[in-house]
Amino acid sequence: MYLTNYYYETKLPSGEIMLVNFLTGKVFHIQERIRKAIRNWKTTGDLSALDFLIHHQFLFTDREEEQKLIGEKAERYQAGLKEKTKLYGLCLTYDCNLRCPYCYENGIGRQGTLMSAEMIDRAIRGIGELNEKLESKSSLLVLFGGEPFMECNRKAVEYFFDAAEKFCIRERENGRKCRMVLFSNGYELAGFLPLLERYRKDIDSIMLTLNGTKEVHDKLKRPVDAGSSFDRTVNAIERLLEMEIPVNVRCDVDKTNIRFLSHTADFVMERGWQENPLFRYYISPIKWKDDGTCLSEGEILKSFLKLDGIHGGKLSAVFELGALRLVHNMVGMLDGSGEGSMAYFYCEAVKQQQYVFGTDGYIYKCLSSIGKPELAFGEYGDGVIMYGGREERWSVRNVLSIPKCRECRFAFVCGGGCALAAEQGGDLYEPKCEDVRTVVDGCLYAADKGKNIISYGFYYDENAGEH
Ligand code: SF4
Ligand code: SF4
Repeated sequence: MYLTNYYYETKLPSGEIMLVNFLTGKVFHIQERIRKAIRNWKTTGDLSALDFLIHHQFLFTDREEEQKLIGEKAERYQAGLKEKTKLYGLCLTYDCNLRCPYCYENGIGRQGTLMSAEMIDRAIRGIGELNEKLESKSSLLVLFGGEPFMECNRKAVEYFFDAAEKFCIRERENGRKCRMVLFSNGYELAGFLPLLERYRKDIDSIMLTLNGTKEVHDKLKRPVDAGSSFDRTVNAIERLLEMEIPVNVRCDVDKTNIRFLSHTADFVMERGWQENPLFRYYISPIKWKDDGTCLSEGEILKSFLKLDGIHGGKLSAVFELGALRLVHNMVGMLDGSGEGSMAYFYCEAVKQQQYVFGTDGYIYKCLSSIGKPELAFGEYGDGVIMYGGREERWSVRNVLSIPKCRECRFAFVCGGGCALAAEQGGDLYEPKCEDVRTVVDGCLYAADKGKNIISYGFYYDENAGEH
């Protein structure tokens, strides 16, 4: 007999004992005798407990049997990935009217980076070429920047919509789904609403950012030309909801603003947004700052649960946690999605699911690499050229190819961590561990307390956008 390494058991403050099988994505409330049996499986005389452990695939005949199961599941997962929606980002410009201090695009040349009509045509042609190569059945054209929706970009934005609409029509004629997702900070979006109305049928959703109440938000997202970006973003959200366009709002959090989440929830409730099925508000960690204010997923989850408890469930009534990758996987397991919530890969950049066409003629896969040609995966011009070796290395980076992850009990809820961070640390196949255990404990604790953690996933997940 062989006991899998991919399990975790813990006793919660309530006295409940939880047992998770990360290999099957199943979570069990167990009795003490099952806990004893799994700890002493070689010597226990509790035959019914052993039956339970065999039946639920904790115990195998031998390691080969366990490895065979892992291989079969990984194969199914890879086959499923092929069917997933592909994301094609088009960075219209790297320039922005807000230039938030925490933006991952800080440090790259921003001015004069607006795409010409010719570049937009090339990017859309390149997207079509990649889409054919990947045999995609469904895709999202994602417009972002910098900030695309600035008055000074109007002509380019109009050109994009015209080209994108034609692309969507062609895709549909070929039996494939295609819609647009639009990113904006909302600051100058109001001036573009008539344009959005015109292309509404092709718009899946709009992504905006609201980092808290007015005082908090305006501190983090300062407009270059003074004035409040909060008021304008709020106005944009209201108008878009009136137009019945789905709005996904991101709340970027770090140590400086997380404590204000309940105030933000109050504001949302005053407006009644949380009752509108077209509105989603998700919490996203601020990364890429080295001033000690960033928070890990585990830290965010802990604060969220604490504040939610103090404020009578207000936070969970307003926010969802789908942008926290580990939390999302764990919530899926607790919701009974089983195998569907297992993580072999960490993010969409390593899943051959996401390609971003930069204004500089390069193709990126990881959003944090945009504007840094040395981190590009290919280039586009008259056609697409992908740098085979680099793409190959990234697309096989998963918990089964990272030796240390393969041995880790949390592998299938984690996915191996950020590939970019690993690569920049000198070895793409080194794990980049986050505080998975804290996340797992936090989610189990929340489930035991009957707390409602909602995670729809992100806009690239199958059901996202189906409001
Ligand atoms: S990155 Fe770390 S926590 Fe995640 S699977 Fe690998 S070894 Fe485990
Ligand atoms: S590789 Fe890292 S930085 Fe890049 S998209 Fe994935 S998680 Fe984000």
